[in-house]
Amino acid sequence: MTQNDERYARQLALLGSEGQEKLARARVLVVGAGGLGSPLLSYLAAAGVGTLTFVDEDHVAESNLNRQVLYTEADLGRSKAERAAERLEALNRTVRVTSIAARFTGENGPALVAQSDLVALALDNRETRLLANRLCVAAGRPLVDGGIDGWSGYVTAVVPGKTPCLSCWFEKRKPGGRAPVSLGPMAGVIGSMEALAVLQMLLGRPGPAGRLMLFNGAQWTLSPLGAGRRPDCPACGNRGEAPPS
Ligand SMILES: [Zn+2]
Repeated sequence: MTQNDERYARQLALLGSEGQEKLARARVLVVGAGGLGSPLLSYLAAAGVGTLTFVDEDHVAESNLNRQVLYTEADLGRSKAERAAERLEALNRTVRVTSIAARFTGENGPALVAQSDLVALALDNRETRLLANRLCVAAGRPLVDGGIDGWSGYVTAVVPGKTPCLSCWFEKRKPGGRAPVSLGPMAGVIGSMEALAVLQMLLGRPGPAGRLMLFNGAQWTLSPLGAGRRPDCPACGNRGEAPPS
């Protein structure tokens, strides 16, 4: 038994060595290393995604600790990018981890997206979400997104040119205008669902592509929403297969 056979013993029966190699060759960009990013990054590193790059400009604050399980009290004041990279490298030394202590912007975003096979968002703001969506649609990169607020959360995945993009789903909705509030396990549930979606899509499975999965943590329901691409979408309206009219 090789070292990797031992490490991945509980997942190899599901993925096969071919699937495991696919994960090892994959390059994933994660935007955000907070509440959603903590489980998302941890599970991607643990599963053996070969190249993991992530972006976060923040420092660890006490109010993060109810949900951002990558960090401890000893990390207060430290750069999340630096600390999360150390944790992920300690979890799986076979993963190439690159952390970027910066905000994801229109300047650094295009190159980061271009050098990734898939992008996953772990954000709490709409502007960066829609920016990342535009860059992924332009570059033809699949995108996984999730969000939480109160007892609600969602996960969706975008395949540019084929499924609705985040602008198709969200552009016409009013921004919340405040930081989302939630309990830690809501971030855990949704961030873990995002990790599952990323792994499935890297393995060539559809995951939640084209659907918006709504989790209601008060009612304990998971509801798939379906929608078509919007012909007038500012991000994907004139790309790929023509949306049905
Ligand atoms: Zn769109």
